[in-house]
Amino acid sequence: MDTLLPLAEPGHEAPLRRTDAFSYACKGCGGCCRNKRIAVTPYEVWRLSRACGIDTGEVLARHVEPDAPYLRVDEAGECVFLREGRCSVHRDRPLVCRLYPLGRQREENGDETFWRLEPRPGSPGVYGTDTTVADYLAQQDVDELLNVVDRYQALYYHLFELLRQLAPTDVPPAAHASFAEDQDARPTDGASRAAAPGAAVFHEWFDVDRLVGAFCERTGRPLPTAPRDWLDAHIDAIDAWLDAQGLGRGGLT
Ligand code: SF4
Repeated sequence: MDTLLPLAEPGHEAPLRRTDAFSYACKGCGGCCRNKRIAVTPYEVWRLSRACGIDTGEVLARHVEPDAPYLRVDEAGECVFLREGRCSVHRDRPLVCRLYPLGRQREENGDETFWRLEPRPGSPGVYGTDTTVADYLAQQDVDELLNVVDRYQALYYHLFELLRQLAPTDVPPAAHASFAEDQDARPTDGASRAAAPGAAVFHEWFDVDRLVGAFCERTGRPLPTAPRDWLDAHIDAIDAWLDAQGLGRGGLT
């Protein structure tokens, strides 16, 4: 199963820039929705929750893999949101679905490149050079989600640096426990603490409704209404949590 990430390793072809020629005519076969692991950010989980009329905890429980931020697939390898050959959350589909068949790489210094993903054998989609990469991105309405993934990426760089400096078993238990608002959700043994930076804490960080709700209650900040405010509040909540552990951005030596 291929994994589609908003930031991934480039293919073998020469990288593309936004000004380079690129076009793609989708024929609606749904092939890109099968046998793929679709990566999502917390904000995309939030958008999907609003599209489905459920909260982010339910989206995670029903539609996201239990220990990694990928949409679930059914026994046939089809994305859980594919219904009768069509995307049932089209307006709120994740960034990687919009970018496909392009991949994107963005360096820490902001340098951005794209590359063409290998088409599925037999795909009726037509690659061309009628427009540019920038035109294709505009057609797919990706500006907001590209900005979102770049903001989370900056956070991830910090977290990776943190994990590089702290072996997982050395991460203070409080660093994991404080993300959980109730005792039952807290890791209780060494094994779960060791896995916490990846698997055990993952749902806590991605459960935007729960995390932002607790953050707003604790700080007296009004609960967000606009989508962009939910994103800001979620990133602020994670930053506040890191600061509380003495692990905030700028806090590493
Ligand atoms: S979210 Fe929609 S577009 Fe993306 S893989 Fe699932 S069904 Fe396909």
